[in-house]
Formats: sequence, structure tokens, C-alpha cells
Amino acid sequence: MSRIGFIGLGMMGRPMAHLLHAAGHTLVVQDANQEVAAGFAAEHPQTLVANAAQEFAGCDAVITMLPNSDIVDAVVQGLQPHLRRGACVIEMSSADPNRTRALAARLQEQGVALIDAPVSGGVKKAVAGTLAIMVGGDAQVFAQQKPVLECLGKAITYVGPVGAGHALKALNNYVSAAALLATAEAIHVGAAFGIEAATIVDVINASTGRNNTTENKAHQFMLNGAFDSGFSLALQAKDVGIAAALGSSVQLPMELAQKVHAMTADASQALGPKADHTELYKFVGRA
Ligand code: NAD
Repeated sequence: MSRIGFIGLGMMGRPMAHLLHAAGHTLVVQDANQEVAAGFAAEHPQTLVANAAQEFAGCDAVITMLPNSDIVDAVVQGLQPHLRRGACVIEMSSADPNRTRALAARLQEQGVALIDAPVSGGVKKAVAGTLAIMVGGDAQVFAQQKPVLECLGKAITYVGPVGAGHALKALNNYVSAAALLATAEAIHVGAAFGIEAATIVDVINASTGRNNTTENKAHQFMLNGAFDSGFSLALQAKDVGIAAALGSSVQLPMELAQKVHAMTADASQALGPKADHTELYKFVGRA
């Protein structure tokens, strides 16, 4: 079993780190919120809380599960001088693929590998260890790290060179956000026309408009007013922005992605940093 660093014990990171511990790995954990890291260590014997970057020096791999590329870059830059040659950073956040490439190149200069391995499936699948994981990076490094990823996910797919995982993750979340917005509009318009909201969702689920929002979010988090899926609107808006910027970086303007980004970013601004992404349903219906 390996010694694994885990940085970022939030909605996703905590259950993921729990599974690695359950699989027998020794963990060195860190979170900006000291209480969260101390609480995790108290419940997981043999776990070390890192108070400084040098405490990750003995790790075979360090997993990052952080909000965005600004934070990932700052954290990994702090780690860099302390990681040993042959160690691997497994970057599992949803981050900017072009920045991930630049980060991997800087690490490579001192013999440290980076693979990007973002995840899809939300808190529920993080808890169950059934996340979809899309991996970018050197194929041999991926093969070495695959047993670690197998503790966390079921559909683990190698998708290309470093950054490819983050690119595909942003594109997936753009498609998902577009479908959520379309679904929210359809429910509000159908209801205003006099059709029961629940009937709209059920009929779409039996028809060609069926999607992850109609199947797994509309009844579960939106129509019942729960709005507690565990994935924040701010993170969703970030992801769609990454997808739109990716389009620009390959000279393919994504008109719909620009629109979806504007809508998610406006909603996030209006509803605040704690809003769940399913609250987009309320935002779309505000008029
Ligand atoms: P979160 O906000 O719940 O957790 C982030 C954690 O990082 C927090 O505990 C925070 O204290 C910690 N953190 C922030 N800055 C730090 C720093 N400098 N050093 C150490 N720790 C720091 O977010 P989350 O929902 O767990 O998402 C994490 C990543 O996974 C994001 O990139 C997100 O887009 C992605 N993601 C989230 C979901 C979901 O359903 N929540 C699904 C797939 C992917």
C-alpha cells in the first residue's frame, strides 16, 4: 500500500479520501479549513495532518481535489520543491486544461509526473466509489496509478495527453449545464401553460428529451425544493467558463457555451457562493 497525500477534503474530497483509507493506504491530508483536516484524521487512524508542504515529501502520490486552477497552481507550486523524483501528482479537481499542461511541464523539470484525473458523478458516486474518472497524461504513469484510481471510481478511461481529462470534464459539464437550463425552462413554461411540473418531468423521461437533469435532479433536488445536490453553482459556472475558453483556445467559438456560461455566472452572482447548482431552476423561473 502507498503513502498518499490528499489535499482538499470538501464535498468530494472527504468521501474519496475515506475510500483510500479504507483500501489500506496511509494518508497525509491537508485542507485550508484546519478543523476539517483534523476531524478527518480523528476518524481515520494512522492519518497525518500536514501543517507544511514538506510533510508530503515521503508520498508516492499526492491527490489534489480543489476548487479551481488558481488554487491548484498555488498548492502544487508550494509542494514542488519537496516532492521526490518519481512521485506523481494526481490532479482530480475540475480545472483549466491549458493551465494543467503548463503545471505538468514545470513538475516534469524535476522528475515529478502529473496526470489529470477529474471525476463525474457527484457526491453520491464519490461516497459509493463509483465515480467516472477521465484521465490525461503519460499512459505509463496512468497504468502505475490506476490501482489508486480504482479505489474511487468504476468507469476509468484514459482519454489522451496531459490536460485531456480536464478538457473532457469541462466539456461534459457544459453539456450537462446546457441540459439543466433547457430542462428548467421547459418545466417552467409547461407549468405556466397548465401542465403539472411532475408530469412534465415524467413524460420527458419517457421521451427523447430525457437527460441527467430529468432523471436524477428534477424530482430529487428541484421540484421538492431541496436544492442540496452537493455541487455548487459557482463550481458549475467555473466549469462552463473553462469549456467556453477551451473553444476559444482552439479557434472554435462556442456560441451556446458562451450563453450558458453567462447564464450560470449571472445566476451564481445573484444567488451567492453557497447556492447549489440545482437552484438554477429557481433562477430560470424568477420572471
Ligand atoms: P468544496 O468547496 O466542497 O471543497 C473544496 C475543499 O478545498 C474545501 O474543503 C476547501 O477548504 C479546500 N481548499 C480550498 N483552498 C485550499 C487550499 N489552498 N489548500 C487546501 N485546501 C483548500 O468543493 P467540491 O464540491 O468538493 O469540489 C472539488 C472539486 O471537484 C472542484 O474542482 C469541483 O468542480 C469538482 N467536482 C465537484 C463535484 C460535486 O458534485 N461537488 C463533482 C465533480 C467534480
